[in-house]
Amino acid sequence: MIPTASPADFRVTLDVVRGCLLGLALGDALGAPHEGGLLERLVWRVVGRTRLGERRWTDDTQMTLDVVESLLARGAVHQDDLARRFARSQHWSRGYGPGAARVLGRIRRGDSWEHASRSVYPEGSFGNGAAMRAPILGVVYACDAESLDDAVTRSAVITHAHPLAIEGALIVARATAAAAMGLAMREHIEHAADGAALAPYRARLRIAADWLSQNTSVPIATVRDQLGNGIAAVDSCVTALYLAVSRLDSPFMTLHEAAVALGGDVDTISAMAGAIWGARHGGAALPAEPLASLEDRDRLERLASDLARIDWSRSGDGPRR
Ligand SMILES: [Mg+2]
Repeated sequence: MIPTASPADFRVTLDVVRGCLLGLALGDALGAPHEGGLLERLVWRVVGRTRLGERRWTDDTQMTLDVVESLLARGAVHQDDLARRFARSQHWSRGYGPGAARVLGRIRRGDSWEHASRSVYPEGSFGNGAAMRAPILGVVYACDAESLDDAVTRSAVITHAHPLAIEGALIVARATAAAAMGLAMREHIEHAADGAALAPYRARLRIAADWLSQNTSVPIATVRDQLGNGIAAVDSCVTALYLAVSRLDSPFMTLHEAAVALGGDVDTISAMAGAIWGARHGGAALPAEPLASLEDRDRLERLASDLARIDWSRSGDGPRR
């Protein structure tokens, strides 16, 4: 299959930005009630709706909004600004992991992000917190692979400096870019498998590529066993990519159903898969009913419009920290 767009002639449209941003938030909000153990689910039954009855989203969407607002304010990934925004936005009711909450608490109390991150995780966190906020960077920098990798890495290391966390974020962002550009996704995953720096990603991407080439329906228990469903980046990034690509020609809600059946870190896997699906099909293809009851929809729409107004292909060397 021939790619329908090359990086050189791809331009980010409002529909693609909306698809990615709203697809992520919708996947997150729909997945959140199904995430975690009994206690987490009971808590979410209390805090999972706003006073207006809207479906609340979690840390995945909050950190993505922090990335977008920082990008708009600074014109590029500005690590100090982004760290301050992450820290300011963090609230227990958004379901941040305990490690991320400790890092962000330290930053809020005046610690540098470099020190805060390393004092909680000396080797860097290998959770999926960097990958969950990476899809929008994939869309913004879709036509510039170098700027994409640079932006995703700079965003990741603030809280997730472990090589597994960074590579997971890169895999998710590059896949979102490929989806936005209309590239053949099975081939993209094959290239990603060949080019992956770390063996666990090479192995999982190869499994996903093989399943897609066989074009058969893989039982969800097999997906869980072979690709994972946990909060580690290596146990969720390829899983989300596979869910999105294997259901790219199916309605958005089939993604959600698969993520729920998979279990584990449902909101993050559903958010990343939703962002990839949304980047491919655009915001207009997202299901109207859950979208109508999504928390802070106006803010998401406004930020999508503001992002889409800027030609990010020319901003790779924008202001930095
Ligand atoms: Mg979450």
